[in-house]
Amino acid sequence: MTQSNRDLFSRAGERMPGGVNSPVRAFKSVGGDPFFAQRAEGAYLWDVEGKRYIDYIGSWGPMIAGHAHPEVLEAVRAVMGNGLSFGVPNALEVEMAEALCRIVPSCEMVRMVNSGTEATLSAIRLARGATGRPRIVKFEGCYHGHGDSFLVKAGSGALTLGVPDSPGVPKALADLTSTLPYNDFEAATQLFSEVGGEIAALIVEPIVGNANCILPHEGYLQHLRQLCERHGAVLIFDEVMTGFRVALGGAQERYGVRPDLSTFGKIIGGGMPVGAYGGKAELMRQVAPSGPIYQAGTLSGNPVAMAAGLATLKLIQAPGFHQRLEAATHRLCDGLEAAAREAGVTFSTSRSCAMFGMYFRESPATSFAEAVGSDVAAFRRFFHAMLEEGVYVAPSAFEAGFLSSAHGEDEIAATVEAARRAFAKVAA
Ligand code: PLP
Repeated sequence: MTQSNRDLFSRAGERMPGGVNSPVRAFKSVGGDPFFAQRAEGAYLWDVEGKRYIDYIGSWGPMIAGHAHPEVLEAVRAVMGNGLSFGVPNALEVEMAEALCRIVPSCEMVRMVNSGTEATLSAIRLARGATGRPRIVKFEGCYHGHGDSFLVKAGSGALTLGVPDSPGVPKALADLTSTLPYNDFEAATQLFSEVGGEIAALIVEPIVGNANCILPHEGYLQHLRQLCERHGAVLIFDEVMTGFRVALGGAQERYGVRPDLSTFGKIIGGGMPVGAYGGKAELMRQVAPSGPIYQAGTLSGNPVAMAAGLATLKLIQAPGFHQRLEAATHRLCDGLEAAAREAGVTFSTSRSCAMFGMYFRESPATSFAEAVGSDVAAFRRFFHAMLEEGVYVAPSAFEAGFLSSAHGEDEIAATVEAARRAFAKVAA
């Protein structure tokens, strides 16, 4: 019997909050019902009704080599037969740790976990434990997973005190998170001059992929590096999204800034549930069991997940992999901008290698406030028109888009063609 998206969503709503296991999947920001995936291959996703979509989300980042890549599937099959999980060390964990430290030189040691959220939670515990300080600094528009210390927004008035952004986050904990405007040099300087001695860590998405795709102003990441240095705070780059995507070595390679700790996820699991945090050996040695700062995981370093991740890391180290992706992203974004111009729609894009942002405003946002000020209603119309055309972009005006190496000339040309018709509908 063929299943329908609508029936599945209705059944899901009975037994799962909002019908989904992660909020953005419910299409709340764009309206309408989500589709249910049947399968995926290369640049394409098929729903349970057999409709095909060119996919610009790639499972929210992991599928940089395209869906169901034969080499990734083969690697998984090869280890699967030996057992799914052991609860004792396995050789693939060692290979993964060595690969990560080789690709990202700021990582002298790493710890594998099961999600990006776990990675960021563990990284701030490590920073707090190592510095003996309580305060965390983060940025408007950045997302670091759903840990309590991150679900905090800036309080009005006071620069330092945060307020809970979700019921269930204790006010006492929220007080310890300060939220700054991204790309604002002076606000960061001021905060550090006021409470620098309290700050355990500053955590930042070096390119903000959770508020569309906001690139750092020249020298901004260096400025944050210097402030942390001067005040003895741990600089954490959350590269869960940018890692291995905006360059092989992530945003830290692209911008030449060396954080103390980095967090990863998505690509390093090749589609399996994986995260990691790593950095300076002097910090990482303080993690249990070599040090006193506790962190653990039943399934951490799972052999099947390591195999998928290692196979993906191997693919992305092929010569020219990121250069080809970058060229494809430019072709796509230039094509979208031209299509918007033809239709008379105000539209711009930002890009960083295999990651891009689409803005219904004159120029790409450089701050969260600017991103929020874009024409969200126009985005919604565009999203639905593209979906109808069989092109799936993120169901939110505040999420980056992702390309994979499976997005070839044909897919990009078809996307730009679809966008021509979609922009015409937006303009109508
Ligand atoms: N950090 C960043 C930058 C992310 O984009 C995400 C998820 O999208 C996370 C952390 C959380 O990762 P996960 O969803 O695997 O918990």
